[in-house]
Amino acid sequence: MDVTITDESDSTLTFELSGATPAFANALRRTMIGEVPTLAIEDVTFTQNNSGLFDEIVAHRLGMIPWTFDPSKYEFRDECDCEDGCMQCTVTLVLDREGDGNVIASDMKPTDEDVEPANPDTKILELKEDGHIELEAQAIKGRGRDHAKWQAANASYSYEKGDDTFHFTVESVSGLDPRTIVNHAVEQLQDHIGEFEESVQEA
Ligand SMILES: [Zn+2]
Repeated sequence: MDVTITDESDSTLTFELSGATPAFANALRRTMIGEVPTLAIEDVTFTQNNSGLFDEIVAHRLGMIPWTFDPSKYEFRDECDCEDGCMQCTVTLVLDREGDGNVIASDMKPTDEDVEPANPDTKILELKEDGHIELEAQAIKGRGRDHAKWQAANASYSYEKGDDTFHFTVESVSGLDPRTIVNHAVEQLQDHIGEFEESVQEA
């Protein structure tokens, strides 16, 4: 199996996968969309919010913000040893803004300095002169198959019948760059194939 990158930008990667079966190409596509972990806000506790938007609306918007982070630093919360969140499985972000103007993604202050919004200027809401929003949010690692807010990428491919070359396009919709997403997905598939081979040998 061979991968040749044909085009690359910050958010999009195109490559040719040759010598693979349609089943593998499809598994790779699905893994990139649903299995590569990203970071997203899950819980929000409001102290102040007179923005005119309901807390639930603000929480939903916060949940859709993609973050760059180091996936290897964090456990999945449901696999963590803690009861309800700790430094190993949770990033806490604080927002406290007063006065008129736009509140943007980079106004969120994370406990982990490696965590940054993929698009810092993403508008969350607008405050009026006497406006005040103060909240604490918890972000956790998750997968696209659990909820769209954790989806790492859009991925698709085309191929000619009778040809074993698949033309892939991967567009990151998360804070991960597309090359990281492809590598991570290939690693995960290889792990699964390894486990499969082991279980076949043991049988
Ligand atoms: Zn934990």
